[in-house]
Amino acid sequence: METRVVVTRQPNEVVLERCDLHPGDNEVLVKTYMASICGTDKNYSEGKMPREVLVEQVTANNEAHHSYPLKMGHEAAGIIVEVGKNVTDFKVGDKVMSFGWYNTMADYFVAPVDYNGYGVVKVPEGMSMEAASLGEPTACAVYAGMQSGVELGDVVVIVGAGFAGQVMMQVVKKMGAYKVICVDIVDGKLELAKKMGADIVLNPDRDDVVKTVLEVTGNQGADICIEAAGNDAAIQICSDVLKHGGILGLYSWVLEPATLYINRWHNDGFDIRTLALIHRIKIDRPWWIHKALDNVAKGMVNIEPLISHVFDLADATKAFETACGDPMACKVMLKP
Ligand SMILES: [Zn+2]
Repeated sequence: METRVVVTRQPNEVVLERCDLHPGDNEVLVKTYMASICGTDKNYSEGKMPREVLVEQVTANNEAHHSYPLKMGHEAAGIIVEVGKNVTDFKVGDKVMSFGWYNTMADYFVAPVDYNGYGVVKVPEGMSMEAASLGEPTACAVYAGMQSGVELGDVVVIVGAGFAGQVMMQVVKKMGAYKVICVDIVDGKLELAKKMGADIVLNPDRDDVVKTVLEVTGNQGADICIEAAGNDAAIQICSDVLKHGGILGLYSWVLEPATLYINRWHNDGFDIRTLALIHRIKIDRPWWIHKALDNVAKGMVNIEPLISHVFDLADATKAFETACGDPMACKVMLKP
């Protein structure tokens, strides 16, 4: 099958190319419904890669999985149009979501079938294809909210009101948070958070976050703070407004070296936890993916309003410019 696919030829040069695809014996060929641009895609398109990938590129003589030219995309949903000869649990016509880097920004993509929550996973009954196209980041963010340790009556601060922060905010509210405070430096994202159910929204460029959190919590500090912005400033705010013995949740994939004042982590006995589903031990992943997305299918978490832009696949270059440069971009989608 011939397909168009988005390629980062070299950092900051995103183009559309053509290639041929054939599913292997344990793989399926999927017709893409919609693919999403994730923070990882943005980083890779701009040449930012984690250290271990850079090392792999050198040691593998540039044959590494992630090296330029790089075919893009890992978040998508679609419909199976062909199955490999060993595939038994999936058939033509099944609706599936991608969990892994399968070059999904394309008309078609090839992926293995569900193994330990990698490959393609079936779309739960009742979940829209729009939400399913965001199945992977949605599962990650719902998981993070569910594993944040929230209890009835808690005050939760979420720093970073991008897609993940907006999803977590909905989850911790449903799980019994008394107040959820969303923090971001982009007012448009705060407006969206307010619309999606945040109790208080704060912009640290203008608002005194520490003062407000102390007022809301009777000078105790927040019960839980979750970092979802991917930088040290966000982790610092979380560290500064958390109560003694509170839970500090780390969600983002931070690629830059961080400078932090973390004496409170020790002095105040913080419970520090990472909240990354994709990097959880393999045996847990499928169970959590199912559990998290089942809640979306039931309508407990609202995903569609978080799609800020939909571009035609042919406009991939513009879509990446928007995702990387427009502060109002929440989820930027590509539709073949
Ligand atoms: Zn992603």
